[in-house]
Amino acid sequence: MTTRVKPGQRVRLRDLDPAERGGYDSREDPKAVADLARDLERLCTLQETLMAEGQRGLLVVLQAMDAAGKDGVLRKVAGPLDSRGVSVFSFKAPAGEEAGHDYLWRVHQRCPRKGEVTFFNRSHYEDVLVVRVLDLVPRARWSARYAHISAFEQMLHDEGTQVLKIFLHISKEEQKQRLQERLDVPEKNWKFDPRDLEMRARWDAFQEAYEDAFERTSTEVAPWHIVPADRKWARDLAVARLLVETLEAMNPRYPKPNYDPKKMKIDP
Ligand code: AMP
Ligand code: MG
Repeated sequence: MTTRVKPGQRVRLRDLDPAERGGYDSREDPKAVADLARDLERLCTLQETLMAEGQRGLLVVLQAMDAAGKDGVLRKVAGPLDSRGVSVFSFKAPAGEEAGHDYLWRVHQRCPRKGEVTFFNRSHYEDVLVVRVLDLVPRARWSARYAHISAFEQMLHDEGTQVLKIFLHISKEEQKQRLQERLDVPEKNWKFDPRDLEMRARWDAFQEAYEDAFERTSTEVAPWHIVPADRKWARDLAVARLLVETLEAMNPRYPKPNYDPKKMKIDP
């Protein structure tokens, strides 16, 4: 189901099926329903423990083509978490103060504090994706960024922030249907952005930019995970699983209280 990209591995997105179901029959498959419920519950407990421990952070990077479901994942998987320990940040084209600094400046500021899980809806990867495809800076500038990004993520890791990078992989056909729905359904019109069509027109260039990013920034400490995303339910299952696995590996612990609970007397 989910492909974990090894350091230096060249993945061909066209060889990975975006409609994969991860061994389940359908959305209604009782096992799919039970597994998602179990993983979301486990996720909530793990996140609470990470928050209570207060020593380390988790940064979840979500990248994808338009309409691939980044917002859906946030609603479904981040939604149930305890908002005291969660933050979500959506990166747009840099503007104002952001545009006056290097490309990692705005990103570093939004990284999780200790005990927190932060979701990035888009990220520093836009600076080697849209920036590259639309030629927003010269090649020499963006091509140096893969190394900066790997070093930056290594630093985050060394300083206690786990980085989980997820690409939601949809097909061009599925994107067409979802964009069309945004035009056809009045309540969905607000989700449509005419600029999405310009991006779609550069589909192949984006896929290639993604493949290069995976190859050059998948590291031991921060590998890329490619999640088939044509089926929303399978996508949510896969992302919830990745989060559970990542937090389980971090193995957070509730802190010892700085008092003796047995010696505390509560007045009747
Ligand atoms: P959305 O996620 O649909 O709200 O769109 C945000 C837009 O901001 C997308 O078209 C991104 O490509 C664009 N964007 C995000 N980060 C950057 C960046 N560093 N440089 C240029 N455009 C960006
Ligand atoms: Mg959009």
